[in-house]
Amino acid sequence: MNAKKQTDSKTKRTVEILIEHDADLTATLSAFQKVCNHLSPICWNNGKPKSRRALHDAAYHKVKGIVSAQMTQTAIRFVSACYSKKKRRKISQPVHFKRPFALFLVGERGRDACFCPDGTLSIWTVSGRKRLAYYAPPYSRTLLRSALRIDSIRVKERKGKLVGFVTITLAKPKAEGLHFVGVDLNETNHIVGVKETGEVFFVSGLNYRIWMTKHRKLRARLQRKLAERKGQRRGTRSLRRRLQHLLLRQRNFTRTYCHTVAKGLVEWAGKDAILVLERLQNLRKKTSNTALNRRLHLFPYAKLRNYIVQKAEMKGMAVLFVDPSFTSQTCHACGSRGERQRHRFYCPACSTVYHADLNAAINILRRADETLRLRLEGGVVGRPSVVPLQRLAVLPEGSAVGGMQALHPLGDSGSPNRSFHGCGQGLQ
Ligand SMILES: [Zn+2]
Repeated sequence: MNAKKQTDSKTKRTVEILIEHDADLTATLSAFQKVCNHLSPICWNNGKPKSRRALHDAAYHKVKGIVSAQMTQTAIRFVSACYSKKKRRKISQPVHFKRPFALFLVGERGRDACFCPDGTLSIWTVSGRKRLAYYAPPYSRTLLRSALRIDSIRVKERKGKLVGFVTITLAKPKAEGLHFVGVDLNETNHIVGVKETGEVFFVSGLNYRIWMTKHRKLRARLQRKLAERKGQRRGTRSLRRRLQHLLLRQRNFTRTYCHTVAKGLVEWAGKDAILVLERLQNLRKKTSNTALNRRLHLFPYAKLRNYIVQKAEMKGMAVLFVDPSFTSQTCHACGSRGERQRHRFYCPACSTVYHADLNAAINILRRADETLRLRLEGGVVGRPSVVPLQRLAVLPEGSAVGGMQALHPLGDSGSPNRSFHGCGQGLQ
C-alpha cells in the first residue's frame, strides 16, 4: 500500500485484482519492460540522472512505436522517478527491470485502461484495446466501488497469473474525535496505548521476537549450508528455494502481525478517539552495538505505524502527531527527567516508579493538548473544543480493563511482557 502525497480529505490505497489470461496483454508487459530497460541506462547517465524532461528529449525517438505514445510517456515518467532525489543515493548502477510489467494510467478519462460498467476491464494491448474479465476479492471490490477515482493499474505476472495492482483515491471520512489516546510504539512493547480515563492497551512484542529469532537462526543455518555447498560445487537449487520460501514467510508473518495488532488498537480506541502518535523519527541511528542494531531492525516500526494511521483514517478517527523528544525520559507525574532501566522508570525528584513504556504513552497523551493549543493559536484549526485532560486514574493492581489485564503501575522486571494481551493471540 502506498501512502504518498495525501491531502486532508483524500487518501490513496492499492488493491489487487486478478486479470484473465491473455497473450496480448502478456506481450504488452514484455514490451513495456523492454522500453523501461532501454530508457534506464539513458536516464542513469553515468551517475548523473537526467530529469524527466531531459530523458524525454534524449530518448523518446529511440523508443517510440514499441508501445502506444501514452504508455511511452508513462514509461519515461516511471523510469525517471526511479532516479528521483529521494532514491538517487542508493543507486550505483542503472536500474534493470527483471520482470515484465506495465503501468496503465486510468484517471478520469480511462486513458490506457478503465473498468467498464459491464464488469470487464478495458485495457490497451500491443494489438489494440481489449476487454478482459477480472476478479476482485470482496474486500478489494468494496474499496473499488467506493473509490473517488481510479488512478492507475500496474500489471505483472505472478506464478503464471496476471495480477493488477490498482491505485485508487478514496475519500477519508470526516474525523470527529473527542478524547485522546496516547500511543507509544516501542521495540520491547510494540504498542502501549492509554486513554484519558486510564484504560490501557498493551501489545508485548515478545511472541513476535521469539518467532523472528527462530526464523533468523534457521535462515542463518541454511545460508551457511548454501555457502558450504557452493564451495563443494554441488547443487544449491533446493536450498535456495527453501531460503526464498522462508523469506516470503517472514514477510507475510510481519505483515499479518502488524495488521492484526494495528486493528486491535484502533478497535480498542473506539470511533470517537483521537490517536496521538509521536512524529516520525529515525529509530535506526547507527550504534556500534550489533545485537541492539539487529533488534531495532527486527522491529517493523514504520509498517506498524502506517497501518495504524491508515486504519484510523478509514474508520474516521483523527490522528495527531506530537513532538517525540524525551517522552520516555520524562516523569509523567512531576515532569522532571528520570531514569529508565529496562521496563522500570524511576523518577529521582518525586520517587515515582512506573512501567517505562506506559509512562511514555502518558507523556505522549499529555502532549496532545499542548500541540492542539499551539495549532489553534497559529491559526490552524484542529479540534474545535479542547476537552481538559482528566486525571489519570491510578490503575488498581491486576484489574482487568477492556478485556485485557491491566499493567502493574509498578512495572517489575517486565512481568506484563510474558503474554500477548489484547490481540493477535492466534499469531504463533
Ligand atoms: Zn517525578
